[in-house]
Amino acid sequence: MANNEQTFIMIKPDGVARGLVGEIIKRFEAKGYYLRALKMMNVPKELAEEHYVDLASKPFYPGLVNYIVSGPVVATVWEGKGVVVTGRKLVGATNPLASEPGSIRGDYAIDVGRNIIHGSDAVESAKREIALWFPDGLADNKPSTQWIYE
Ligand code: GDP
Ligand code: MG
Repeated sequence: MANNEQTFIMIKPDGVARGLVGEIIKRFEAKGYYLRALKMMNVPKELAEEHYVDLASKPFYPGLVNYIVSGPVVATVWEGKGVVVTGRKLVGATNPLASEPGSIRGDYAIDVGRNIIHGSDAVESAKREIALWFPDGLADNKPSTQWIYE
């Protein structure tokens, strides 16, 4: 399994407004994942729509887009072995009432429409989302990994 797998993690407007940016970053860093890119931004409506294009037919889609554009988000890319699947475990189940305590949503959220964080659900969708949110690519940097990987 590659040590340089990447996932897209976004702290949604409610997570930013509630002051949970540091807590979320801390959990991914503490696990050993590498913060490969980070930016705070207001999300253009077209970007929110494109990010969630697979959900466009859902009744909650307009509300979801309005939620994502309602305030600044923190867009990040994390790198490391198994980071997509393990990142989803750190994030927790979509509906926070079903998320395990110990996961981010399980510890900090209640409502599915205010679940504070996004995480890519597969390596392929991570690639699509990273290209969408970081269209200029990522800065060239290489973490030292000798104390993380054998
Ligand atoms: P995720 O990958 O765990 O974020 O879940 P999905 O890809 O299925 O849905 C994307 C996002 O849409 C979720 O994180 C929620 O913010 C929102 N969402 C999903 N299902 C519902 C729903 O039934 N109602 C509402 N209001 N929002 C939903
Ligand atoms: Mg999803």
